[in-house]
Amino acid sequence: MLKFAVFGNPIGQSKSPIIHQAFADSLGISIEYQKVLVPKDDFSARAKQFFRDPAAKGINVTVPFKQDAAQWVDELSQAAKFAGAVNTISRQDGGYRGDNTDGVGLVADLNKHKVQLKGTHILLLGAGGAARGVIKPLLAAGAQHITIANRTESKAHDLTKLFASNKVTATSLQNLNQLAGVIPRFDLIINSTSASLYNSLPGVCDEIIANAQVVYDMVYAQAPTVFLKHARRLGVAHQYDGLGMLVEQAAESFHIWTGLQPDTTAILARLREMP
Ligand code: NDP
Repeated sequence: MLKFAVFGNPIGQSKSPIIHQAFADSLGISIEYQKVLVPKDDFSARAKQFFRDPAAKGINVTVPFKQDAAQWVDELSQAAKFAGAVNTISRQDGGYRGDNTDGVGLVADLNKHKVQLKGTHILLLGAGGAARGVIKPLLAAGAQHITIANRTESKAHDLTKLFASNKVTATSLQNLNQLAGVIPRFDLIINSTSASLYNSLPGVCDEIIANAQVVYDMVYAQAPTVFLKHARRLGVAHQYDGLGMLVEQAAESFHIWTGLQPDTTAILARLREMP
């Protein structure tokens, strides 16, 4: 029996146990995967306690502990270094390694939807942890240029400094909206803000959204998010939510822990049916 957990606060809504159990069942391996509600200042003690059990192999980490986890581990993968955050901890000989699978998850989901990334111009809305984790993988997948626009402009600029590439630039939402008729259209708009969680739009004007081929909202919900509904009304051909990203990033965690690559199609369909 291999033991895993997801650490977060809040944690009640996490779908990770269902996803990982489905992966394990489909591959015929026995796991226990629990949700752990971790008090805000207790990440380190709880992680140590979890790994005292020799059967404990890994932890998924969600809000608000991804940066704590990056501090806690002994070694960071390249992806985790770039993201500045860890969502997957694995026990290794004599220590713990931190990974970040969000970017791999997003690119895998976009690939599944057959969204072209090579040579594309992407508008990335938001400059939080999720945005930071996906920039490098999007560039590695062939994106031609990524424009980051964030409600707090300075955070978007800070993010570009980490990448030091002329393929990643930042702008304010105000600037972006003023230039709507002048700048070339974006092939893909990725909403990495949490605005949809509050039923808000992320602040980009209709003209820019309407000219995109594809919009992607990292937030997922039973019904299409407010951003996806808005894009559909504006005539955007393809709109996708982040449920696929969630499942794909979980598959990458599972692969890191077990060396096995689970199929994601069946569990994604099951989650779509769940209330
Ligand atoms: P952070 O808290 O680090 O960043 C939140 C971002 O959203 C900031 O850029 C913030 O702007 C912006 N924002 C928040 N509210 C609004 C608003 N009303 N209008 C415009 N911008 C807003 O969160 P994360 O980056 O970690 O996560 C962002 C979202 O992505 C979350 O909702 C999360 O659920 C989702 N996510 C989904 C994943 C998946 O697998 N599908 C994986 C990871 C994240 P400002 O800087 O101005 O505050």
